[in-house]
Amino acid sequence: MSNRLTVPPSHVVIFGRPGSGKSTLAERLGAEHGYVLFRTGELLRAAVRRDDFLGRRVEIHLASGNLVPDQLIFELMEQSLKAPAAEKLLFDGFPRTMGQVPLLEDFERRLGFSIGCYLDIAVSPVAAIARMTGRRVCPTCGATYHIVGKPPKVAETCDLDGSTLVNRTDDKPEVVALRQQIFDEYATPILDHYRAGASEIFRAVDGEQPFEAVYADACRALGLEAPAA
Ligand code: AMP
Repeated sequence: MSNRLTVPPSHVVIFGRPGSGKSTLAERLGAEHGYVLFRTGELLRAAVRRDDFLGRRVEIHLASGNLVPDQLIFELMEQSLKAPAAEKLLFDGFPRTMGQVPLLEDFERRLGFSIGCYLDIAVSPVAAIARMTGRRVCPTCGATYHIVGKPPKVAETCDLDGSTLVNRTDDKPEVVALRQQIFDEYATPILDHYRAGASEIFRAVDGEQPFEAVYADACRALGLEAPAA
């Protein structure tokens, strides 16, 4: 691919609508290329499972499918993002609003790192909704599965702790369409912002291909070694 980065970036932001497969892709980039994942959705769900002060305030937003207010995301970032300069970090789910864009810039300055690629996994709303209905999550440990893309060894059962898998509260049909609308409303300006203002490090891959092809394209875009076809 002609637009691959020449040096693989140590800090990446990955974008993709709910159901784009971005989280599975992020996990594989983490496992095979050493990125530590910074996933605001997962951190928020962990706070809810712990039932701590932050978790109690974000729960209602998560269950409704709405975004968590920027102020609470700021608290989450302060709690969770301590010293990323030494690590290879992949941001999955952040920034999610234009209000969070300066927040990321502030963390870059304060913690001494800089984003080396904004990577968009482009999928149509129709394809994304079809994928979301197959997602499952472990209510105990938070491991994620997909009945087609990443099935557990035993149907509807967590490989790690044997719990019965559930639908994420925010994957319920009434919530799925709302989450797509929210993505279109909030993420489109962010993507436009980076596409125009950081075009040299903005990359998009076609997320509607089979997963292996999406992963290979993402690796190439990031200047990483792609798996053999
Ligand atoms: P995700 O796992 O990334 O799909 O996120 C699940 C839910 O967490 C979203 O629907 C939002 O309610 C919330 N969330 C995750 N990241 C953010 C963020 N950066 N800003 C606001 N809400 C977020």
